[in-house]
Amino acid sequence: AREALFQAQKIEALGQLTGGVAHDFNNLLTAVLGSLELVRRQIGDERQLNLIDNAIKGASRGISLTQRMLSFARKQELALQPVAVDVLVAEMGDLLQRSLGPLIRIETDFPADLATAAADSNQLEAAVLNLAVNARDAMPEGGVLRVGAKNESVGRGHRSGLPDGDYIRLSVADTGSGMDAKTLAQATEPFFTTKGVGKGTGLGLSMVHGMAEQLGGRLQLTSHVGRGTTVEIWLPVASAIITAEPVQLPVETKMET
Ligand code: ADP
Repeated sequence: AREALFQAQKIEALGQLTGGVAHDFNNLLTAVLGSLELVRRQIGDERQLNLIDNAIKGASRGISLTQRMLSFARKQELALQPVAVDVLVAEMGDLLQRSLGPLIRIETDFPADLATAAADSNQLEAAVLNLAVNARDAMPEGGVLRVGAKNESVGRGHRSGLPDGDYIRLSVADTGSGMDAKTLAQATEPFFTTKGVGKGTGLGLSMVHGMAEQLGGRLQLTSHVGRGTTVEIWLPVASAIITAEPVQLPVETKMET
């Protein structure tokens, strides 16, 4: 399970990296091209003109390449569909227990009237697995992993900063080491990890955070050193998408070209 998780995180990171590098290169090459064209106007010598033209051609090819990379990085899509979070977690039961090992007991707590979330079930499954693996790492001596959800209604005056509406508050709580304030503040940053080389990628929580935001929800972390950590994912309910077909949402990428 850890291998599959690493793989998904690496692919996601690769996409982010590709987009970021392509964006920067595109800007640099555009500046290079601009300067070359200015210099070209002031050259009379045939041989020098040829050299400049070669450089211009190279820079232009570079720009079209980085633009292809940019459109590739933007093309990842999210399959939004109604997801029964309790069913999803129940179906992950064996996988979760195998990932957690024999020393950790799983407890679940879902109300019978739990609403349906608007989410991408594959992505949500990966998120829950990520949180479970983090919980396991925080409980080397064993403990309890509590997975549950509640219906929540956000209305005027709610301090969450979320748009008004109905949400599902999915929580994954452990009885592990917890995090101090400094670690907690950095935990969702990409590549932040306190685990050793080859053990952590520092991408798990940043992926989960990205997913929550992309779905119009949010991620909330609560932690106490020595007592444990609770990670909550707020997901909008599926009322707006009762279609049978999955809806394709473009991934939001923060890139200006
Ligand atoms: P990774 O697990 O690869 O380190 P994450 O982004 O998932 O990357 O987590 C970042 C860091 O946040 C971890 O290295 C750890 O210090 C802390 N962390 C995450 N989840 C927990 C948890 N359940 N209990 C304690 N610390 C945690």
